[in-house]
Amino acid sequence: MADSIRTVGVLTSGGDAPGMNAAIRASVRECINRGLRVKGIQRGYSGLLNEEIIDMDKHSVSDIIQRGGTILGTARCEEMRTEEGVLEAAEICRRHEIDGLIVIGGDGSYRGALELSRKGINAIGIPGTIDLDIACSDYTIGFDTAINTAMQAIDKVRDTSSSHERCSIIEVMGRNAGYIALWCGIANGAEDILLPEKYDYDEQKIVDNIINNRKHGKRHHIIINAEGIGHSTSMARRIEAATGIETRATILGYMQRGGSPSCKDRFYGSIMGSRAAQIMAEGKQNRVVALQKGEIVDIDIEEALQMQKSIPEYQYEISIALSRY
Ligand code: ATP
Repeated sequence: MADSIRTVGVLTSGGDAPGMNAAIRASVRECINRGLRVKGIQRGYSGLLNEEIIDMDKHSVSDIIQRGGTILGTARCEEMRTEEGVLEAAEICRRHEIDGLIVIGGDGSYRGALELSRKGINAIGIPGTIDLDIACSDYTIGFDTAINTAMQAIDKVRDTSSSHERCSIIEVMGRNAGYIALWCGIANGAEDILLPEKYDYDEQKIVDNIINNRKHGKRHHIIINAEGIGHSTSMARRIEAATGIETRATILGYMQRGGSPSCKDRFYGSIMGSRAAQIMAEGKQNRVVALQKGEIVDIDIEEALQMQKSIPEYQYEISIALSRY
């Protein structure tokens, strides 16, 4: 099998994440070091289906490690979810002599990779998502930069919130996962942290907490609300009506995805990208690279997709304990 991989395609898919460029750079350079040809596929699976495929060499990934986003571009592609789409994508890979594919993205992107592997294209996944919601891996590239960006923005909202003695609901990203909300909630010392995995939709508890804190002299009340719960603006209206305290919603949105990647994201992007190329050159098939208990490992894609992940209970309990007066 090792001899049969000659050309590797690299693509980024799903939401962009800071550190994806480090993973592209490492994948490209390590493949070339190991005698493999590399093609860059632009705009994820959508670009694959449109044959937006370019040759890459070591120079094509110069000066990108410090840049946010992904130089290859990314997209969401509905056609790839169909049998015809996957068959067409596999056929295009063969036409361009791509026998292995490195896919940098979230678990949706892994599903596309699994489907392609079933059609004979060896696929290796790298966890690239700001959401930290890939079950098989303790870390996903982009998370560290995103939480630091969100944390700094929340600090700024807190300053104005204290000055005006307001309640602020700040909505952070994470799709259906609450990791960004939990980390920022703890790191920003929020008074309430609403996680999709845990929230019971009992707004009265929040109202009581705000009133109690105010009685104890707290000048602000920060509520971190996860994207998976959403509706921050209407929540703010209801809370203001119930407490009589001015309440504003701030939705941080896409700014959380952007910016120059942190050291951690460049580091894991580089390490995981190199490992993916190594696995490919060794002829291992249909794997995903993951961080588990401090070690970089690789596991079967299908097995990886069956794994489940949940918010660590002790972290959640600490977040509650520290947010109460
Ligand atoms: P993020 O966590 O940043 O959202 P993701 O990779 O999970 O990243 P998705 O939008 O879920 O993002 O998936 C990215 C793309 O992967 C989809 O647009 C689609 O092209 C492909 N994909 C997702 N699910 C499947 C599937 N079941 N079969 C084939 N392809 C899929």
